[in-house]
Amino acid sequence: MKLGTRRERLRLRHTFRIARGAEDVSEVVVAEVESGGIRGVGEASPSEYYGETPESVEEALGGIADWLSDRNPEHFRHVLDDARERLGKARAALCALDLALLDWNGRKLGLPLHRILGLDPGRVPKTSFTIGIDSIPRMVEKLREAGDWPIIKVKLGTPEDLEIVRALRKETAAIFRVDANCGWTAAETIEKSRELAGLGVELIEQPLPPERLGDMERVRRESALPVFADENAVVPEDVPALAGKFHGINIKLVKCGGILPAIRMVHIARTLGLRVMFGCMIESSIGCTAAAQLGPLADHMDIDGPLLIANDPYQGLEYLKGEVRLPSGPGLGVERVS
Ligand code: MG
Repeated sequence: MKLGTRRERLRLRHTFRIARGAEDVSEVVVAEVESGGIRGVGEASPSEYYGETPESVEEALGGIADWLSDRNPEHFRHVLDDARERLGKARAALCALDLALLDWNGRKLGLPLHRILGLDPGRVPKTSFTIGIDSIPRMVEKLREAGDWPIIKVKLGTPEDLEIVRALRKETAAIFRVDANCGWTAAETIEKSRELAGLGVELIEQPLPPERLGDMERVRRESALPVFADENAVVPEDVPALAGKFHGINIKLVKCGGILPAIRMVHIARTLGLRVMFGCMIESSIGCTAAAQLGPLADHMDIDGPLLIANDPYQGLEYLKGEVRLPSGPGLGVERVS
């Protein structure tokens, strides 16, 4: 099979700020595999936080293109197992290849990915819509712009976290989730969880930095709200250590290396009694449609990437006020539109 890559510059509708930084543009790498006249497409939205950039993804994929040229895409499990060994820590690159190979196979078989996996497309949980950190009036404005979205994820980790949630609560009866992106201490999390529970917040995502995992046992015990791991839940190997420290994990395809590792994370989490959320980075409809195809395996979805960008080059999943409709086309079901 042939493997090619190209870069897409996704422009954010609003500057997107979280506890550790802000961005106006997200550069992603689109990978395409071709064999026997069939093409499959995948995406990586690499994160410097995890040590990856568009350049590193292109370099990693370029480095395995020759090796891939005589591999059979129909044997995608073997190809991806071997690719994982070769790519090492380049998991965003692995994700782009994993998505492209599964898309290729779905197109070859003429079936959408959820059909191949035996999943009911009617069972994708509603997705949240994310409000990034800003001044309180601007956050209120962004909430109004979102319309009557049923689940709102609020980025926190600021000196005025509770004021933000109180102000947003005046505007809507939606379910809130909050994501501190490692911005809190254990004591702060426990303390804030009490008022947040009264403000209709459903869960807290990654309150502490990942290296404070030891403190999470107490947080999990004393928090008034369930706590979900994101920065602590990168790859399948991370999951066993999170039992007893979190109530659930946020799985992202680009963190773990694509659809196959994500399914492995779901199985490990379920075995340990952890709940499952699928999340995303700032990414196009390729990455979020791939995550949506796995949606029936999850308790919670947070796949609003395409809603946050102004120039999505692909179309796939559709949103109806939080409800996620999977496309009916084969593979991931995405098509290029620009
Ligand atoms: Mg998060």
